Amino acid sequence: HEFMEALAKAREAHSLEHREILILLQARGEEVDALGRAADGVRAASLGDEVHLRGIIEFSNYCRQNCLYCGLRRDNRNLRRYRLTPGEILAAARKAAGLGLPTIVLQSGEDPHYTAPVLADIIRRLKEEVGVGAVTLSVGERSFEDYRLWREAGADRYLLKHETADAALFARLRPGTTLQDRLLRLKWLRELGYQVGSGNIVGLPGQTLKTLAADILLMRELDVEMAGIGPFIPHPQTPLAKEPPGELELTLKVLAIARLLLPRAHLPATTALGTIHPQGRRMGLCFGANVIMPDTTPPPYRCYYQIYPGKAGLHEEMETTLVSLKNLIFSLNRRVGSGPGHSPKIQGGM
Ligand code: SAM
Ligand code: SF4
Repeated sequence: HEFMEALAKAREAHSLEHREILILLQARGEEVDALGRAADGVRAASLGDEVHLRGIIEFSNYCRQNCLYCGLRRDNRNLRRYRLTPGEILAAARKAAGLGLPTIVLQSGEDPHYTAPVLADIIRRLKEEVGVGAVTLSVGERSFEDYRLWREAGADRYLLKHETADAALFARLRPGTTLQDRLLRLKWLRELGYQVGSGNIVGLPGQTLKTLAADILLMRELDVEMAGIGPFIPHPQTPLAKEPPGELELTLKVLAIARLLLPRAHLPATTALGTIHPQGRRMGLCFGANVIMPDTTPPPYRCYYQIYPGKAGLHEEMETTLVSLKNLIFSLNRRVGSGPGHSPKIQGGM
């Protein structure tokens, strides 16, 4: 019937129409298992069994934006704000490298305190002094010139989730910004030679299955090297405090369909997925994900990077987190990725 037809097409052609994605998004019961198995098969065939670990350093929780869903939004006055010095960032990266994490993600709120040259200098030192294999940036919307400077300094990848493909919803949830501007930046990042990461939030208030299908098609159109797909988690100090969280099963379905349509993209089993369910990351890895981003922010600051409450792994030592993540990977008969784990589209990747 319809579901099996759409699934077979996705598995073989890695291409679906909006209507067919909608059919897969409505999978129930055993269909969900079949979707997961298909995604897992495509993941294994196109990327193998390596799970790449990326250490994420959340170096500032100051943000000039006011996204309705996020705990770091500027109007949240109940959050203690912090900034890591360049020295602290380098030390955190050294510690991560010592624990066998070859690549680093630098993430923050939109914080103009870190000027383009300051961040460029940090990127350069991460690569030259610490020997970090690959640097990913995720610091929001900046100018073309800023992105260019960072690329020249050695940044390899950039994560800028499109969040939702519904332009009206985007504008409502991210006051003062537009989907169009976001997409323009993704285009710039592509031009500058970054490995580009987008992604969405599943279960945003006002979102429909149609929007989710459009999200998946957009990621395919952008031909992203990475996509972060995670559930919405309401934060008590935001206007969306009373909204229900995104559903586990729906998030897994979106992840699996993204894998079917983007066979070679790096897809993380997101921290948000691990936060809404204790087995969330495991399930993510079984529904097409091949990346995990353990938190390598220094402990005194970690609890203040509160995008949403109850973040998975918040109170663990990095060593403990890594042991349990490695056990998880081994228990699924997978391997920990070696080397920088570049996109297979990039020469010398994989
Ligand atoms: N400020 C940068 C930006 O927005 O691109 C990077 C940091 S931002 C905290 C990273 C991601 O957190 C966003 O792309 C968004 O998808 C996610 N996020 C924010 N609030 C969330 C929430 N309440 N539930 C789930 N994900 C959330
Ligand atoms: Fe700032 Fe990013 Fe949070 Fe929006 S999602 S408030 S830009 S940190």
